[in-house]
Formats: sequence, C-alpha cells, structure tokens
Amino acid sequence: MKLSKVTNILLAFAILISSQLACQTLIAPTPSALPPKVTEAAPTSADTPAAPTDDEIKAGIQRSLDLYAEAYTNNKPDVLDQVIDSENKPFYRIVRNRFDEFQKSYLAGQIEFEYVVVDITKREYGFVIAHIEGGNGLNAADWPFRQLGGNWVLSEPTVKQAGEPVRTETDHFIFTTYPWADNVNQKIMDMMETARSDVEKILGKAPEEKANVKIMPIYGLSPFNPMNAIALYMSEQGPIKNIIEVYTPFSYVYGTYDPAFGWDGELQTTLTHEYTHMVHARVFDKAGRLSSWMSEGLAEYVSSSNNDKIYYACNAMRSGTFIPILDETGAVFKQDLMHLTMLTENVGLAYNYSQSLVKFTVDNYGGLDGFWKLAGSLDKTSDFRKAVQDAFGIPYDEYNEKWLKWLKAQC
Ligand SMILES: [Zn+2]
Repeated sequence: MKLSKVTNILLAFAILISSQLACQTLIAPTPSALPPKVTEAAPTSADTPAAPTDDEIKAGIQRSLDLYAEAYTNNKPDVLDQVIDSENKPFYRIVRNRFDEFQKSYLAGQIEFEYVVVDITKREYGFVIAHIEGGNGLNAADWPFRQLGGNWVLSEPTVKQAGEPVRTETDHFIFTTYPWADNVNQKIMDMMETARSDVEKILGKAPEEKANVKIMPIYGLSPFNPMNAIALYMSEQGPIKNIIEVYTPFSYVYGTYDPAFGWDGELQTTLTHEYTHMVHARVFDKAGRLSSWMSEGLAEYVSSSNNDKIYYACNAMRSGTFIPILDETGAVFKQDLMHLTMLTENVGLAYNYSQSLVKFTVDNYGGLDGFWKLAGSLDKTSDFRKAVQDAFGIPYDEYNEKWLKWLKAQC
C-alpha cells in the first residue's frame, strides 16, 4: 500500500521550506476528454443568473482553500466541514479521515498551510479542477471543486458520473478504467508497464501472471478502502488475484505532489511500489511475511531509486520521533516497524524508517541476497532476534545499533 502524501509530502513540505529550494516547472492540467451524454447547461434567459466568470470561480475556490488551510494549521474540523462536499458521503469521510490522521501526527501544529489557486479547468457536471500550489511552490495539487450552497466545496464525481468501467487486456495486465479519467488512463497504463520492467530490473524477476489494475478516479468506487492510501495491492480478493488499485491524478484522493517530480513522476514511483508487492508475493513467496517493514520497506526501496525519503527518517529520529524495529516495552499493541500496519500514529514516517532499514541491510549485509536471507530466516524462526543471528551471525542488538548509527548519518 502506498500512503497518501497527507503525511508524507507534508513532511517533505515542512523540511524543504527551510532548505529554500527553487520552485520547479509545474505540470499543467491537460484538457479532459468528455464522457458521453454530457449536456452543456447554457441558460440565456434574462432572469437566470449569469454563469460565474473564471475569475469569480478562482476567487471562490481560493476562499475555500484559505479555510481549508486554516483548518489544517489550527486543527479546526468545523472549519474544514464548510469546504467539503457533505452530499457525497464516502468523499466526506475520506477528507475528514485524512485531516484527523494528520492532526494526530507529530507534524500537527508545526506547519502553516497555504494554498494558492494557479488556474482552473472546467469539467462536466459542474466540476472545476483547480491547479493549486502550496509551500512557496514546493507542493502542488489538482483538486475538483463544485458549487454547493453558494460555496465552492472540495468534491469528486459520483460513481455514476465516473462512467461505466472499460476493460483493456495487455500482455501483463488487465486494466479497468473509467471515462472520467480518460485524460490520464492511457498514460497510467503505459506507466504500469514501465513499473513492471523497473521492478524486474532490480529484483531480477517478474511474474508471468497478469495483474488486475483498477485505475480509479474517485474514492467512492471502493468506499471501504483504507483512507490513507493512494494505491494498494491485494494478493487476492475472492476469486480474483493480484489486484492493484490506484487513484488517478486530478482527484483529491491522489493528494498532493512535489512539482519538481510532477504528478506523473510521483505516480510512477507509486505504481512501482505496488508492483513490487506483487513480485514479492508471486516470485518471492512473500518472504518475511511476519514483518510489515520488510514488505513496505522493500516496495519503497525498489520504487525510489535515490532513496531520498530516508532523510526524513533521519531527521525525525534526530528530533525525537523514533519508531523501533522491535517494541520491547511489553505493550499489547506493539508500536514498532514489525507491526507497521498497526501503528496508531506516524505510519507515513514508519515507511521511511522501513525503507532505511532495507537499504541499510542491502548495503551492509550482502545486497538483496542478504535481505532475502534475513526474510527467509524470519519465516523459519518466527522471531526477529533469532532471524538476525541466524542470517548474519550477529546479535540483534548489534544489528540494531549499527542501523541507528548509519541512519543518524543520513541527514
Ligand atoms: Zn505498500
């Protein structure tokens, strides 16, 4: 599963602001393909209010974004409520959930949010996609808004508006796409092929079986999906195997992105992350299955070639927010990397720590072979302390101390 940037990019956002990097060229929103049966509302009667001009729309969306930023900065859920489409229930839930998760994280209260509407693209059903910048141009987003009760609220199309699903089968994938996202569907399908070959290059193999990839423009299509994810892999669901679900750009669910990489640059990383999960499951028999850091850390390691996110783990550790490999405090719900998916907070940061641990292991204990050896020992012993001893011939405490020392030097 790949987490939304609500936790991850904000971390980047906070740190990058202080390093004052220059703003990069932004990816402009592409004109959207129209789904069928669209009728233009063009009332001309003198008593009908004139349609708002682009400037009026931008001003209205800006007002909503100011409230959204205020809500995030000062933890004001009631202010947030004013700018979410309350008629779209699954959508409302995901916006609130991401807000609540952020307010629980160690970054809450530390960031002053600001968003600026750069331009807008009109879509069907009264939607307007706003291209937004934040953090002095270091953060970007393309979010849909619609008018509700005189305000422009954050929203997404309904399942019906997203359109009828379309099935496309290729050599390695069976894609399901929706007409709403026809401006990006083909590009994402091509990027999925790139993801497959990138993973194959690093891990040495890729399965012949096809992945079922669902390219989803709205959260409402799977309203019970984890709300902090922008993509996920399921090894099976009922009779269907190897399902990858990914949210498309130009949606709120997709979150924000670093304009230096563009939405497509970040999405490529996400697709590679998910396909790594599939290779891990189908080619490597999900080795290390007892430890969630091995799975997520591997997916992060394979998908981000420069491992830049390890910097954030280093930085967080230095400022006192640390997540250990093993929580040995005797807590019932262990707060450690072995149980990454069950953490009550800072899950995004746990991904960064996990990635650092994979890279540390690969770099210091015999490359990826060393990593697979450790994973295999864990499967055999069901005890991470024993697994380290078994795989590397050193005590866990020594491995752990070396990792901490190594990590401290990464920022
Ligand atoms: Zn994942």
